Amino acid sequence: MKLTTAGFWGAFPEENSATSCYVVKSEGETFLLDCGSGAMAVLPRIADRNDIDQMIISHRHFDHTADIGAFVYSRATAMGLKETDRPLTIHAPAGEKAFFQQFEKENISELKLYETEDRLLIGGVRVTFQKTTHPAPCWAARLEKDGKTVVYTADTVYDEALVSFCEKADLLIAECSFYENQDASAFGHMNSREAAEMAEAAGVKELWLSHLPHFGEHEQLKNEAEKYFSGKIHLAAEGLSWEG
Ligand SMILES: [Zn+2]
Ligand SMILES: [Zn+2]
Repeated sequence: MKLTTAGFWGAFPEENSATSCYVVKSEGETFLLDCGSGAMAVLPRIADRNDIDQMIISHRHFDHTADIGAFVYSRATAMGLKETDRPLTIHAPAGEKAFFQQFEKENISELKLYETEDRLLIGGVRVTFQKTTHPAPCWAARLEKDGKTVVYTADTVYDEALVSFCEKADLLIAECSFYENQDASAFGHMNSREAAEMAEAAGVKELWLSHLPHFGEHEQLKNEAEKYFSGKIHLAAEGLSWEG
């Protein structure tokens, strides 16, 4: 599987870049992890939107969902133009049906609700879920294929249960919304130290800091994380990809 970052900001996008959105390609299937604001504008630089037939959404916050509606419109247009005959499947948390059902359009997009214990299989990638601790109900996702594992924390505070969910991942995409000296947990998030400590405790190989703040110098986040995690660290950026 190959995973590429489309959007990496927390909260809101910046000029020419997007909030949370990752593109996963495997065995001819392409799917998204989250579809935040700005994602529709950025995606054509990474993948053909008509090749993306499924998306897995972590939670209802707008920096993870803002462009779902626009994506559905693009699929409706593409199907009308006969560019594709494949509807879009949106996987979203079961308890949040009231929010996500607005994106369901007959013959265009289908909503599939997942529970914590559910398993998905897309392009040979096995996806499992773990509920995080966040103001809106939110789920982390673990992607496994051919003995390789990627974990996406989505939004969360530092949480021991999540450490075991991340166990021995080849890549951990951890949210990092604040700097080391800031209390991220008060806002339902992690700071650079907590993201790094999660990676270290879980014994992951590589850590991406993502869901980045709109203040300070991001390089500082990486410098702070390096004090607590001994593996490879990258700041998430559009186009940053991992293959395994
Ligand atoms: Zn968020
Ligand atoms: Zn959130």
